Amino acid sequence: MSESPVLIAGGGIGGLATALTLHQIGVPCIVFEASREMRPLGVGINMQPNAVRELYDLGIGEADLDRVGLRAREWALVGLNGNDIYSEPRGPLAGYNWPQYAVHRGRFHMLLHDKVVERMGRQAVLLGSRVTAYRNLPSGGVSARIEHSDGSTSDVEGALLVGADGIHSAVRAQMHPAQPPIHWGGAIMWRGTTWGRPIRSGSSFVGLGTHRQRMVFYPISHPDPKTGLSIINWIAEVTMDNTEGWKQSGWFREVSTAEFLHHFEDWIWDWLDVPALIRQADSAFENPMIDRDPVPTWVDGPVALLGDAAHAMYPTGSNGGSQAIVDARVLGASINEYGVTPAALTAYDQKLCGPISQLILRNRGAGPFGLLNMVDERCGGTFDNIDDVISPKERMEFMAGYKAAAGFAIENLNKAPRTIPEGARVRIAQAV
Ligand SMILES: Cc1cc2nc3c(=O)[nH]c(=O)nc-3n(C[C@H](O)[C@H](O)[C@H](O)COP(=O)(O)OP(=O)(O)OC[C@H]3O[C@@H](n4cnc5c(N)ncnc54)[C@H](O)[C@@H]3O)c2cc1C
Repeated sequence: MSESPVLIAGGGIGGLATALTLHQIGVPCIVFEASREMRPLGVGINMQPNAVRELYDLGIGEADLDRVGLRAREWALVGLNGNDIYSEPRGPLAGYNWPQYAVHRGRFHMLLHDKVVERMGRQAVLLGSRVTAYRNLPSGGVSARIEHSDGSTSDVEGALLVGADGIHSAVRAQMHPAQPPIHWGGAIMWRGTTWGRPIRSGSSFVGLGTHRQRMVFYPISHPDPKTGLSIINWIAEVTMDNTEGWKQSGWFREVSTAEFLHHFEDWIWDWLDVPALIRQADSAFENPMIDRDPVPTWVDGPVALLGDAAHAMYPTGSNGGSQAIVDARVLGASINEYGVTPAALTAYDQKLCGPISQLILRNRGAGPFGLLNMVDERCGGTFDNIDDVISPKERMEFMAGYKAAAGFAIENLNKAPRTIPEGARVRIAQAV
């Protein structure tokens, strides 16, 4: 095995899943993370069964995941009249061999970090180390420029560089210097968590409202045995006119709930009080819904993009974090097959870049929430019985189409062989 490690830019979910995967198959790697410390940031995020399967294969099992979230049992869309538009079971209840988890993003991120430290040692993740540029070496391999938190810089050589540095990726900016700026389609999300009583199945993902204004909420913790309350993750979302583009300087800021509560003031039913849910939040954050236009390739010789750096997408399909994990595993499988070589990156690119780029556009068109657009087109959002507007068969086919595109169609996933064969180790002869 070459002494030259794989360099990973970014210690988010994608970068850490890559590190765990490479370690599992015997490939040395180092993670360079720009933040000075790992903190449990973010609110709720879903891990789809295709990603949970990979986590299990990485030795991150139920006991671990139950500590940072809970199994999702249902996905439902509800109209403003309180009537169901669509609902389906999730995880094993739907026939999957693996559950879907609704997790606290920050706690899940810390879980991955703890696993990396436990298995690879603290030195595997270099904090306060921002990758600012790379240079492909004529002799093979790559050199990454690292900017340290004390202001100093250094160059580190590696066999490969994986750019897992998120939506504002420096690696991607160098690989695709002419890429358009971040794309904002007009939707603004305000996110937060509130202690509340889980509704429906007790672990349901609920999208409530219309194609232009909705509330999404789901529990991300087991109920407290004393109070019966769970941490409810919620996203309040409104679509606005975007002709003048995003006017604020940043893409993420903490806000007072008073800034957006008025949009949801009369969203009160006997089974849900949205204003109370928002008002009682610990804190709230504003995120415009943004993504990036797909690029034709995620690879430049020994450098590959992964996770949001490769395919930042609207969270309508709840699959950004899941896809980052699947990316890491497909990359590991390619390295297992082709060695620690640019050929492995090409194989990874050929497998994922095309279909996942399509998924970005599909999520831009509302992903599974596209059912709400259909309701609007057909009846202006007003209906008594959804069957009169969209037949059960059409609704089911619409959702099945989305799941197939996102890689978690039940039959296909259940019968697919492991992404990385059990016990796989990259052979010395294959490595550079
Ligand atoms: C703080 C934060 C909070 C989030 N909260 C939510 C949430 O509540 N719900 C949700 O659905 N999704 C959330 N996300 C997004 C979600 O985690 C990602 O879509 C998904 O997990 C993909 O992960 P990623 O590792 O590709 O990218 P990211 O999660 O963005 O991770 C990228 C990592 O790279 C680091 N980094 C950036 N630039 C560099 C560089 N040049 N060199 C080295 N390191 C660099 C960043 O500090 C970050 O740790 C959040 C992301 C972040 C960073």
